[in-house]
Amino acid sequence: MSEKRIALFGGTFDPIHLGHTTVVAVAGEGIGADKVIFVPAKRSPLKAFFPEAGDEDRLEMIKLATQGNGRFGSSDYELKKAGPSYTLETVRYFRRELGSNVSIYWLMGADALEDLPHWYGVTELIDECNLAVMHRAGFAPSDFSKYISLWGEDRVKKMQRNVVETPLVDISSTEVRKRLTAGREVSGMISPKVLQYIREHRLYGIQDY
Ligand code: ATP
Repeated sequence: MSEKRIALFGGTFDPIHLGHTTVVAVAGEGIGADKVIFVPAKRSPLKAFFPEAGDEDRLEMIKLATQGNGRFGSSDYELKKAGPSYTLETVRYFRRELGSNVSIYWLMGADALEDLPHWYGVTELIDECNLAVMHRAGFAPSDFSKYISLWGEDRVKKMQRNVVETPLVDISSTEVRKRLTAGREVSGMISPKVLQYIREHRLYGIQDY
């Protein structure tokens, strides 16, 4: 494995949770990535609503949750862009920054694969990077056969080769937000530093403590 490998991990991270960090640490190792870069989205082109926490708060929480792992980094590229974030444009930006000798991976959970047919420029995206699908608790192992008619056999084979074995961690940002708003326990779901940040900044409707 001589060439450099960079894994990009996009999402809303509203907020970042231990599912994100646990699963991508394993995925990064499996891929042999030199670095895993968390890329928070301004908003998902597929979600009609904006994230609950602001851009700066979400990025700050990512930094707090990832600072203990030397292979983790973050990028504010999508946050600074006007308008919605398209993964293809982000991958092309990193390609320009990193040069042609670096293998770029884009990590995504199995749930996100279901949305993939609606992504902007998806066939170019499959061609221009390695889309690496990770397992996600509550979602059946990905069935790729249904995508052959959409993207062709070679692209689907490439995606199947890039599936990464990851542990099932049953945590979602939705569940974390709900619990915070209801004043319920979230330890074991988010990093203590992130919880402290949420408390200090009174995010997600958290009550006084
Ligand atoms: P929400 O509940 O608000 O939809 P989420 O928990 O799915 O949020 P996102 O920030 O939307 O988190 O996810 C970013 C990426 O991380 C997506 O590709 C998603 O599939 C993946 N992901 C999130 N949580 C997990 C998990 N527990 N295991 C595996 N992949 C995950």
